[in-house]
Amino acid sequence: MTSEHFNAVIVGAGFAGIGAAIALKRNGIDDFVILDREDDLGGTWYVNHYPGLAVDVPTTTYSYFFEPNPNWSRLFTPGPEIKQYADDVADKYDVRKYMRFNTTVEGARWDDDASNWRIALAGGATITARYLITATGFLSQPAVPDIPGIADFAGKVVHTTEWEDDFDPAGRRIAVIGTGATAVQLIPELAKQAADLTVYQRTPIWVVPKIDVRFGERAKRLFARVPATQRLLRWFTSSIYEVMVSVGVRHYRTFRGRFNISAADLSRMHRFAVIRDADLRRRLTPDYDFGCKRPTFSNGYYRAFTKPHVHLHDAGIDHIVADGIVGKDGTKNVVDTLVLATGFDLWEANFPAIEVIGRDGRDLGKWWRDTRFQAYQGVSMPYFPNYLSLASPYAFLGLNFFNTMEYQMRLMDRLLSEVKRRDATTFEVTEEANATFLARMTELLGDSLFTNGNCGSAHSYYFNPAGEPTLLRPSSTEAAIKEASEFPLTDYQIA
Ligand code: NAP
Repeated sequence: MTSEHFNAVIVGAGFAGIGAAIALKRNGIDDFVILDREDDLGGTWYVNHYPGLAVDVPTTTYSYFFEPNPNWSRLFTPGPEIKQYADDVADKYDVRKYMRFNTTVEGARWDDDASNWRIALAGGATITARYLITATGFLSQPAVPDIPGIADFAGKVVHTTEWEDDFDPAGRRIAVIGTGATAVQLIPELAKQAADLTVYQRTPIWVVPKIDVRFGERAKRLFARVPATQRLLRWFTSSIYEVMVSVGVRHYRTFRGRFNISAADLSRMHRFAVIRDADLRRRLTPDYDFGCKRPTFSNGYYRAFTKPHVHLHDAGIDHIVADGIVGKDGTKNVVDTLVLATGFDLWEANFPAIEVIGRDGRDLGKWWRDTRFQAYQGVSMPYFPNYLSLASPYAFLGLNFFNTMEYQMRLMDRLLSEVKRRDATTFEVTEEANATFLARMTELLGDSLFTNGNCGSAHSYYFNPAGEPTLLRPSSTEAAIKEASEFPLTDYQIA
């Protein structure tokens, strides 16, 4: 069977895929295709459009380094503006034309004889490509809980990634399962309209106040006319976050958890200021260290629980019946709508998001599980030539995705320009470079919150199923960018 051939295939048309496409173009590669299972670009910012959706890091930092956006309306910008930014960047850098939507990639296999990737699509077609770049994100495979009886529920069931914009919560009896970052944004919005709202909490989340400001027209004009002002603001907000992650997460042991204790105190004061009922405050208080799982910012979350029609259920769910939820405490709550704010299956379904078979038949998912989750510079694995996996172990720098994207694009620049300079066909990270990188990451984690803090009860997706914190790269943005720009080219076999 014949198949189309491209120089490169990018899987995913979110911010990572768009960034990778821009990096390819910078390096003179324009014979490529971007495949996405959705019918539009934007990845997570296209898929998620539940009420209350907003970025939870300051938008002053939330853009590609090379494409600041002077138009954000707020410090914590609502989701639709971020989707618009994705559209604007894709158009400005003319990468939309490479995108093919409604195209699900099932797997990819390296063909050593042809020095090509064979990429299998749902429906049976295949595409071959010299380079494979998976830009599938970390939070892209929705997790549906396996609660007994859930299939028997006769009312409406909606996962937050499949929100129906015309769904009207007014007058409904709603149950929300989950209290992660998504639920924290959604619950205050549902509470405004639902007749009755019960939140099923398994693990409480740390919530601190959100200091949000609006950017008026004058500020936007200033950002557009004097880009240095925006750069300055970005530097300022990035520096604050960088220090927080450094002190509170990466160097937790050195700083003896002081930042985490202060942040937890701030959350405690916030609860105290908003909630009068001491028992309710206690039930909403996490018993793990601040930072073990993604903390959240909200001025409305705790307040929602003070309304008479909003209830917290934390005794556990026993099973679900056609018209409601039966708790482990024997209580039955009759509801007509079940909202699953249950997050994403990160480790099982996302690492990797598609089956990837490299040289000598090495299966990436199996190899990660049989050995350890690992990826040189968060993108490359030995036995996987001409492959960059942008959503890998140790790839994500923490709070801001665009910091991660910046170092990954720099790495692509350095690597691809060297392949071109040598007129080579393949690149592959050496076993030695990969092992050295893994050892360094493991050592750096020794000072971190994840190794020294009390994270056991957090149920945090920062930890893989073996209990190792292999999601976040334990280095500063500056260090990651420097390494990606200067790594020894001998770390790759370029042939
Ligand atoms: P999440 O953080 O994984 O939270 C899922 C929630 O569902 C948790 O409270 C979890 O409880 C609960 N849950 C899952 N299965 C359950 C079950 N069977 N029974 C009871 N409870 C169950 O997912 P998320 O809230 O969607 O957030 C994911 C990430 O998306 C965030 O950490 C953040 O990085 C990102 N996010 C970002 C923004 C933004 O503005 N940038 C907004 C929203 C989300 P356990 O904790 O006990 O497992």
